[in-house]
Amino acid sequence: MPRGLLSRAIMFSLLCAPEPGAAGAGPDGYASARAQMVSRQIAERGVSDERVLAAMRKVPRHEFVPDSEKRSAYHDTPLPIGEGQTISQPYIVALMTELARPATNHRVLEVGTGSGYQAAVLAEIVEHVYSIEIESTLAQRASEVLQKLGYNNVTVRAGDGYAGWPEYAPFDVIIITAAPDHIPQPLIEQLKPGGRMVVPVGPIAATQQLRVLEKNAAGKVTSTVVAPVRFVPLRRRPD
Ligand code: SAH
Repeated sequence: MPRGLLSRAIMFSLLCAPEPGAAGAGPDGYASARAQMVSRQIAERGVSDERVLAAMRKVPRHEFVPDSEKRSAYHDTPLPIGEGQTISQPYIVALMTELARPATNHRVLEVGTGSGYQAAVLAEIVEHVYSIEIESTLAQRASEVLQKLGYNNVTVRAGDGYAGWPEYAPFDVIIITAAPDHIPQPLIEQLKPGGRMVVPVGPIAATQQLRVLEKNAAGKVTSTVVAPVRFVPLRRRPD
């Protein structure tokens, strides 16, 4: 499509995003926007794991963004959530979830709770999600939203996720949603043999790469680069 047409098409779809409560928008007022998000932004780009698509269709993303962003909750973009942080673009959440190959009996560690949205998507699929957020205000808010929505299988704590969560290790899956400049050794150690870690790595946003780490049954770790990405940096807090 010529560029002008494409940007006009994007403008059109932004202008036509349904209003909350709009007639025909579905039970929570956003259901049709969410269904469109999944088909156009996620399935069309190649995410095909049915469990992931079902979770993305179900989790009310608008509940995880500030009131001022609710209109944009199902747009193809990251959004500000306060404290200078963002909720990731829906496609990236879906891609990372698919790459993690989550299963119903899995115990998952997430580093970077942010809004709690990625944790909710995982919680739709796995047994339990442990999520760590360095900003205590965000940890508190995410925890409240998750509780309100009935996600009793998510546990959030405030802290530096670099060290992981040894009390609940090892994990079948580890998802890191802020970019470290190297893969934290404690997290590699807390990954189960047979487990997978999905992590954006890179010191500057322009050169970050999404990687998948696999630990085989013998404990050997291999890593694959999947795509260039842009995440907020993983920050460290002195102990
Ligand atoms: N997964 C989130 C988006 C995360 S944005 C969601 O679904 O909304 C990245 C988050 O990582 C930010 O909230 C940031 O405060 C947090 N973060 C950065 N460094 C961290 C660290 N060392 N430990 C835990 N959280 C960290």
